[in-house]
Amino acid sequence: MPMPTLAARARSSKRSGVSVMLASSNIAPVSIQPMSMLAPIPSSLSASGDKVKDDVLNVVPPQRAAAIAVQTELANADKRWCEVDLLTFESTQAKYVHVLGDAIKTSPLMRKSGHMANQHAKVCAAAVVDLLQARAPSQQALWSNACCSFINENEVIRSASVLTYSAARKRHQLVPGSEGISAGPSQQECIHAHDWASNIWSDMLS
Ligand SMILES: Cc1cc2nc3c(=O)[nH]c(=O)nc-3n(C[C@H](O)[C@H](O)[C@H](O)COP(=O)(O)OP(=O)(O)OC[C@H]3O[C@@H](n4cnc5c(N)ncnc54)[C@H](O)[C@@H]3O)c2cc1C
Repeated sequence: MPMPTLAARARSSKRSGVSVMLASSNIAPVSIQPMSMLAPIPSSLSASGDKVKDDVLNVVPPQRAAAIAVQTELANADKRWCEVDLLTFESTQAKYVHVLGDAIKTSPLMRKSGHMANQHAKVCAAAVVDLLQARAPSQQALWSNACCSFINENEVIRSASVLTYSAARKRHQLVPGSEGISAGPSQQECIHAHDWASNIWSDMLS
């Protein structure tokens, strides 16, 4: 008989819980029950957050840019994230090196997402063209973001927002009225999620 997956084991056991453990020293561990059918059971956590006892553990290691960014000193923000000029994505550590995606130190409203990494690439590409032609990079970019969370195979919750960037304040600001989150999981959002995925894959990979 094939071995059941961890998720299947969690589903089939009324005792099972799933813990998400953030292993960073300054972030408290979080214990979640992912399915309402599971009876809540306490997890065993040490005061320092180092120990979790449960049937299934999803351990999230301390978050930082990949080792290559740390080794090359591009990760110059607390040795965790790569600080960049958010209009050009040029590293503040190394001229002519541009860093995109989750590796960068974002401004407070900017989510770390695939959708946002895609926006980084577009803003960066346009800025590089400007820089090569000795023009000031545009400050007019609109930064959209969408994250789709599958609650199960058929239902999704989606959050979305649109930002602009203020070079003077060196931070992003929300376009009024652009932020939203689904009222709850729905099949309609699942259809939108699949459409979103097809569109962004086509945009990135075609
Ligand atoms: C559970 C989960 C759900 C998410 N849901 C969404 C969502 O709904 N929508 C959304 O937009 N985003 C979502 N995200 C976030 C999204 O996955 C990330 O923001 C996105 O993948 C970041 O892209 P990236 O290219 O910056 O980094 P990554 O996708 O992490 O890519 C970096 C790549 O570099 C490789 N690499 C590292 N070091 C080296 C090296 N030395 N040499 C060669 N290669 C190297 C890594 O192996 C990796 O493949 C989700 C993330 C998670 C974990």
